[in-house]
Amino acid sequence: MPISTTAEPLVDVHVHLYPTKQEGQLAKDSYVIWEYGDDPGVEFATAGGDLEDLTAIYGKGGFTRAIVVHLFDTALARRDATERLSINSKPAETDAVQAEIQVAVGEAMLASNRWIASVALNDPLVDVLVSVDPTLLTPKEIADHVTDLAKLGVKGIKLHPVSQGYLPFDSRLHAIYETCSDAGLVVLSHSGPGHHGSASAKPTEFASVLERWPNLKLVLAHLGGASWQETPALAKAFPQVMFDLSEIIEWSGASSAPTPDLMSMLIKEIGVDRVMMGSDFPWYDPILTTDRVMGLPGLSTQERSALLGGNAARVFDI
Ligand SMILES: [Zn+2]
Repeated sequence: MPISTTAEPLVDVHVHLYPTKQEGQLAKDSYVIWEYGDDPGVEFATAGGDLEDLTAIYGKGGFTRAIVVHLFDTALARRDATERLSINSKPAETDAVQAEIQVAVGEAMLASNRWIASVALNDPLVDVLVSVDPTLLTPKEIADHVTDLAKLGVKGIKLHPVSQGYLPFDSRLHAIYETCSDAGLVVLSHSGPGHHGSASAKPTEFASVLERWPNLKLVLAHLGGASWQETPALAKAFPQVMFDLSEIIEWSGASSAPTPDLMSMLIKEIGVDRVMMGSDFPWYDPILTTDRVMGLPGLSTQERSALLGGNAARVFDI
């Protein structure tokens, strides 16, 4: 399918990037998308998701910029650290070994963020939001880390309450929200229902965050995911919150995702100037995502350009 847009700039605000194609493939294989219901025939991308894959597909599609929303895999890092550190542990040493594992996983997150920050520093196509898992380090350690990386040009942070295991208003995030709000850094969070324990990221669960930090540049990914019916109320109550349409636009046809007609209505109800195109590469192909935005019914050329890059240029100061 040829790309059918001349939007300029063309910005993809939801991209994942991996050091190698193998690591990207492993991440794709281990992240199960469950919330929209049965797969209606979603077109998944074949790319592994390293910089070579991204550059190739972006060159073909004429993209201006990728915003990498980095997601450090805590569970995978914990498995690695456990294998490395617990081989000779005796039961009496379990607490000490657990503490060592916790330190190792926290350090791995910092190293992973430094890697992605260096990619952005060296490639004009890439901007980055670094991964923050507030369960791994103290709020102050994370806030200092984010402040340091912001000096290198990092644009903000990415949160994933559901896979990291907390709620959006978790007290461990307060100092981090404060830092981002004060520094004008973007906080992009996964949004959608939870499935294990109390962890969840439904749109209305962000209301208290937006009340307490009214200047926070908050972006909710996936338009609320399978909780998208809550999204208009949150958008109405808090005019500052922005959204990306990644993933949910690919799942059209599934029982808990909107049809293209409903998606257009949802975007208009939120406000076309508050929604941004995201592909969730390498899960999906950014060129196909762009085609889907072009295929949404009832939008003007100007509105499509806003969705495809105009809004993102404003939010990310591109
Ligand atoms: Zn994502």
